Formats: sequence, C-alpha cells, structure tokens
Amino acid sequence: MKILVQKYGGTSVANQSRMQEVARRIVRCQEQGHAMVVVVSAMNHTTEDLIAAARRINPNPSPRAMDMLLATGEQMSVSLLAMAIEGLGHNVVSLTGGMSGIYTDQRHKKARIARVDSQRIMAELGKGNIVLVAGFQGVTPEGEITTLGRGGSDTTAVALAAAVVAERCEICTDVDGVYTADPNLIATARRLPEITYDEMLELSRLGAGVLSTRSVELAKEYGIPLVVRSAFSDDGGTQVVEVSVVEQVLVRGVTLDSDISRISVAGVPDRPGIAFGLFSKLASEGISVDMIIQNLNRAQVNDISFTVAKEDAPAAVQACWAFLESIGGHGLVLQKDNAAKISIVGTGITGSTEVASTLFGTLFESGINIEMISTSEIKISCIIDASEGEEALRRLHRAFSLDELELR
Ligand code: ASP
Ligand code: MG
Repeated sequence: MKILVQKYGGTSVANQSRMQEVARRIVRCQEQGHAMVVVVSAMNHTTEDLIAAARRINPNPSPRAMDMLLATGEQMSVSLLAMAIEGLGHNVVSLTGGMSGIYTDQRHKKARIARVDSQRIMAELGKGNIVLVAGFQGVTPEGEITTLGRGGSDTTAVALAAAVVAERCEICTDVDGVYTADPNLIATARRLPEITYDEMLELSRLGAGVLSTRSVELAKEYGIPLVVRSAFSDDGGTQVVEVSVVEQVLVRGVTLDSDISRISVAGVPDRPGIAFGLFSKLASEGISVDMIIQNLNRAQVNDISFTVAKEDAPAAVQACWAFLESIGGHGLVLQKDNAAKISIVGTGITGSTEVASTLFGTLFESGINIEMISTSEIKISCIIDASEGEEALRRLHRAFSLDELELR
C-alpha cells in the first residue's frame, strides 16, 4: 500500500468552500492510487478564539482544562471535512488524536509524542477509508487528552508518516513553499525548490512559521521525505532533504524576528557561579533564553546580556532582580524591548569569511548598529534595533543576491 500523509493548515480549511476544495483534492489523490492519511488543523483563528474565550472565563485556567478545550478546534475541522468527503460519495473516517493511537507524555499544552500505535489507522486504510486525523493532539497512557503546542499539527503529520511508513509527508498550506525571506515583507523573495533538514530547522527556530520546529526534528530523525506545498495548486513546493544538490548557494534565507527583548544584568561580580546562578534562576521560572553575551570584565565586574521572547521579558526582568538580591544587591537590570533578530541561514556559511563580512558590511553601509552577534554552523544572527529590522532584511536579501536565485 502506497500511503501518502497530507496535512492541511487552518487557512486551507477556513470556510465551507475551501473545505470542499480540500475534500476534492484529497479524493483526487486517493483516485491516483494513494492510501490517504490526512491531518487537519483547526479552522483559521479557532485556536486563538478558544484561548481568548478561556481567558474571559478564567485568566489562569489549568493546562488540563486548556487541552480539553483546545483539542475541540481540530475535532471540529476534522468532522466537517469528513462530512465534505462523505458528500462526494467516498468512504472516510474521522479520528481524534487518541483514536489514531497517538500517545504522549503528561505535559499538557506542550506534550511530546511518545509512541504511535498505527493499528487503527492501518485497519481503516485496509477497509478503503480515507483517514482524517485531528492534528495537534494525543492522549496520555491514562487517557487524558493533551495538545502538542502551537503549530502541533505539523508534528502530528510527520509522526504519523513515520508510524505508517508513508512514502512522503506533504504539508499543504497557504504558501507554495519555503521562501528565501518572508514574501509578505520581501516582494522579490524566491521559493526554494529544495532545502536541507538542518537549514529548515534553523529557519523554523528563527520563526519562519511555515513548519513547526518539532516536526522538522522528527522528519530529520526518521528520514521522512517532507514537502511544503500549496493546499490549492499542484505547482511549486519545497522538498526538505538530507543533502541538497544545489551546492553553490551558500545563503538560503534571511529571517527577521521582531518579538525580542534584550535584557542586561550589569555590574555583577566577576566570580565563578554568577552565570550559573542567573541562568538557573531564569530556567526555574520556565523562561527560555536565546543569545547570551558576557563581556570582558572591567574592575572586577561583568555585564551579562541575553535575549528572550518579548512576552517573557517582564518575568525575566523580575527573575534578574531577584537573582541580584540573592547575591547581595550588586548590579542593575536593563531592559530593551524594541530589539529584533536578523539572521542568515545556509549550510557552511560560518566556514566562509566572505559571508560574514558581507553581512556586517551591508549592515554598516545601511548605518545599522549591531548589538549582539551569535553564530552556529549554519546561521549568523545579529540583534539590531527593531526600527531597522525590515530595512536590514531588504538590504541583506539583496546583498546575498537571493532575489536572483537560480530556480530549477
Ligand atoms: N491549531 C493549532 C494552532 O493553531 C495547531 C496547528 O494549527 O497546527 O497552533
Ligand atoms: Mg500551523
């Protein structure tokens, strides 16, 4: 049996006519000879609306109660899509995450898939059914409903593709692939026909949005052929692969994340244990920290700066003050909210001195000041002022000739 796993995002099932279009497309794929397993997200904005409704009732609902609520978004879309397919006269079954055999750990709102028991899905495919699965959810071994974190339907799709040994996993969405930059910000952005798992992982972590980070991790781990494509057109698409044949291209994409705050803890004593104390305090508050810089000490004191997601900034600042108090009240905490992270991504870029100098040179020529720099094997990120973010994005896209990228 040739199994194809497809995932349709919230905008692809946003209303009745789109749902019917998706239904026809799924049926067509089945008629072309595929056994179809289709993962569906909640209809456009449904998850946000459910979160808002919860907050109106109780500003601080328990994670378990939230999961009971959030899982209904995907149940609604999967049921409606099943009805659309029934209406086309095809055999179809809709399943929740739990019914599909998706078992997770107990961490409500950010559960990890622990195991997939594909028996039910395989049995349904064996009966000739199109199998629709509610994305973003699973059950614990105790039968509690969990959700996988925002964007979790991508993860559901890849995990199912691994479990049923699908020939590939197609993420069908409102864009026709992965672009060299956000096409909403850069009109000349080009679609990449191909990208490596590692590059895609970096782009997802940097907020590219088109695939959830966890789904790319899973696809890489299990070697799942992953395709990002339009939900409504057969053209285009981006293949996510292990090794790319498009070797001459160093920089694949430029990303901008404007939801960042920079926090500095200035004037802390220069002695062992300070960084440990500070970052374990932040970790114990559940705050994830991105870039970290400690400067060279002057007069026995250090400044440590780091970045966090803007929404975590108030809690982070509070934790920093608490830490300073615990070491005797030395130092102060400075917060800058209008920070942005601009990054370039591509295999082998840190091995090329030319890439780094083009990056820094372009920002310099644009009069843009760099506040922090961090590098990994396949990316270079700079923290700059948020007001200059889009300008930096445009200039870098141009400087690396991404708008002229050869497409095959
Ligand atoms: N509906 C969930 C969300 O909006 C999951 C998803 O769309 O993948 O995050
Ligand atoms: Mg999504």
